[in-house]
Formats: sequence, C-alpha cells, structure tokens
Amino acid sequence: MSTPQYPEAGTVTESAMDSLLPSDRAPGEARILWVHAHPDDESIATGGSIAHYARAGASNVLLTMTRGERGEVIPAPLRHLEVGQPGCPDTDGTALGLYRVGELDDAAAALGLSDRFFAGETPALDESVGFANGLGRYLDSGMSWGDNGRAQPAEDVSPAALTSATEDEAAAHVAAAIREIRPHVVVTYCDDGGYGHPDTCAPITSRCSASTRPRRRRTVQKSGTSHSCGAPRRRRSR
Ligand SMILES: [Zn+2]
Repeated sequence: MSTPQYPEAGTVTESAMDSLLPSDRAPGEARILWVHAHPDDESIATGGSIAHYARAGASNVLLTMTRGERGEVIPAPLRHLEVGQPGCPDTDGTALGLYRVGELDDAAAALGLSDRFFAGETPALDESVGFANGLGRYLDSGMSWGDNGRAQPAEDVSPAALTSATEDEAAAHVAAAIREIRPHVVVTYCDDGGYGHPDTCAPITSRCSASTRPRRRRTVQKSGTSHSCGAPRRRRSR
C-alpha cells in the first residue's frame, strides 16, 4: 500500500464564523443548513460554529447524508460495533449506525440544533426521484486507501452507499431540503471533502451550491476542517 496522501490544507478564513451570514441578516432571524456525511462530522468540523450561531439565536438545521455505519471505532468498549471487529453483530454496520444516531441526538442537544434529519427523511426527500437502491436512505461508503494514496470507498462498498448513488439522485434530496428550509446559508465541505473521505463528496457540495443559486442570493460556506471519522487507521509509514 502506498503512503496515504491527504489533501493540502485549505484556506483558513479567521473571520469566517463571524462573517457566515449575509450582511443584512441578523443571527436571530437566520436559518443555517449544515450538510454533513456522517454523525459526528457536524461536531468535529463545525460544532463550534453551530453552537456560536445557536447562542446568537439562529435556526440551525442539520442534514446528515448517512448514519456512519462503516466508521472506525476507537473507544475499546465500543470496538465490537465496528464492522469486521470481533463480536460485531452484523456485517453492514447497522448496530454502529444506531449507536451513532444516539450520539447525534446528544450532539444536537449540546450544540443547539433546531432540527436534524437524514437524507431520505422529510424534508430531505424528493419523492419524484426516490432511491434507486430501494432502501430509502444511503449507507456509509466506508473508506480505504487506493494505490494512488488517496482515500476511496471501502473495497466492499455497498450498492446502497452514498457514493454508489448518482450525483443527480443524491443532490435531488439535498435540494428538496433546501427548497423547504430556504436557508440563508448552506455549510458543507470544500471540494476535497476535508481530508478526502469519499462520503464528503464534491458532487454533493457542488450541487448544493447550484441549488442555492436560483431565486435569491444565498451563501454556501464550505468547511475545510480535517477530521478522522470513518478513516482506517493511518499507517505509520513515515
Ligand atoms: Zn465523517
């Protein structure tokens, strides 16, 4: 296996948290939609900003694309929830996903989220498009390191995974949420997905941007924060 290659660090804008909203929008009357790949991404990448705007009175709504079924589990007492680990009760991450939903509920309360939902749940559901995978939701794609050193979906990635869906299909569900919530700001990943996890995929974020263009001007803020959820342990090759 080659040495993992992480994306180069993005530009950090020191004032980003304070300049997130359009200049004519007071925090107390702002709606912010945060679009993330897995439970815990919202906290690791944008938790400080969510809490900041919650305290300022903004409506913070979170769309999570998957339940993080294929994440890496670090705490020893929970290790058995990781697919492939001794004692794991399943091979598709169902138990881990359920556990992470519970963690997400705790995070939502701690951060001050006004609402949260997964792709496939109203309002992040475009009934006219549906889900070709037949599940009505997306699964975590898992992650492995390709020969080129870049992150890629797990070798046994599910056909129901987010990265197995067409760009148009997944984006339609994000767009449905945007149409319903009418956020003043959408916050999602930069094009490299932070550290390159395949679920923090650029097609979703680029289509998020496109979805916000019509009708009225809105802001799309892309997070460049690196994080490590779902990533296999990095080989200490250097
Ligand atoms: Zn993640």
